[in-house]
Amino acid sequence: MQTFQQNVQHLKRPLLSSQDGYRGRFAPSPSGLLHFGSLIAALASFLDAKSAVDSQGHQGAWLVRIEDIDPPREQVGASANILSTLEAFGLHWDESVLYQSQQSELYAHTLNELQQQGLSYYCQCTRSEIKRLGGIYQGYCRSLQHPTKNSATRLINQHCIHQFDDIFQGKVNCDKNLAAEDFIIHRKDGLFAYQLAVVVDDIFQNINHVIRGCDLLEPTARQLTLFTALKKKAPQYGHVPLAITEQGYKLSKQNKATAIDNNNPQPALFSALEFLGQAPEPDLIHEKVTDMISWAIKHWSREKVAQVEQQKIT
Ligand code: GLU
Repeated sequence: MQTFQQNVQHLKRPLLSSQDGYRGRFAPSPSGLLHFGSLIAALASFLDAKSAVDSQGHQGAWLVRIEDIDPPREQVGASANILSTLEAFGLHWDESVLYQSQQSELYAHTLNELQQQGLSYYCQCTRSEIKRLGGIYQGYCRSLQHPTKNSATRLINQHCIHQFDDIFQGKVNCDKNLAAEDFIIHRKDGLFAYQLAVVVDDIFQNINHVIRGCDLLEPTARQLTLFTALKKKAPQYGHVPLAITEQGYKLSKQNKATAIDNNNPQPALFSALEFLGQAPEPDLIHEKVTDMISWAIKHWSREKVAQVEQQKIT
């Protein structure tokens, strides 16, 4: 689906001026507890932010956003648990945590704006109908003027972006047909779609760097399209390899990947640093979490992160 070229042009970070200081974020969905796969994304985004120093010596800001816009998929207590895991692992965030469940008005406003500009339409096609017709939505409902009821809302994809420069992966080419699809920004069940919420909040929080797992490479093309439709500057994206099991399965909340141990964070933290190619000194595993984190910020190297989509863990 994607092809990666070996020319990574963004590894050398420029010194930032205090005005355009680094603002990164970690944005977990509370559909389960934090597992090793999500720890890697949290750690990478934290280290990339904290090692970015502006001309006045300030570290970048690292924000946490809880993406709780899909109540049916939410696990009771997961949000609080994710936050305590981040703290146990020494990943302390700046500013207050943003909950997407509190942002509905802003999403509705943006949705309305896109509608007013004629950039969206209602769609009543079902997933199985689209699958039957080849899997990629071809804009059947564009001219049908469906009513709001029982409809999803799709963005008219006028600014299809299918290529971008990734901090770790180099030039990423996404599937052109998929990138050109009119994608859903408001769901039939009345919930705001992830693509809309994530872009609206990245704009709202002035995020200029998004570091996350390679499972989100494809959605990045859509998010870039949405930034363009909203006439906003997109952040720089960096996708770190996805941890997969020996059997080749992605670690995810869905396959019940082991939650990590908040009472004994050092081993998982050490393994996460190894996974990210940072070659921690062996003795580091016996240090306090704060010392491990200080070492990791000081030694963070984008160049050492593997330029692959997936990486096995043992
Ligand atoms: N909430 C998404 C997830 O947990 C991540 C969103 C993002 O980093 O853009 O998979």
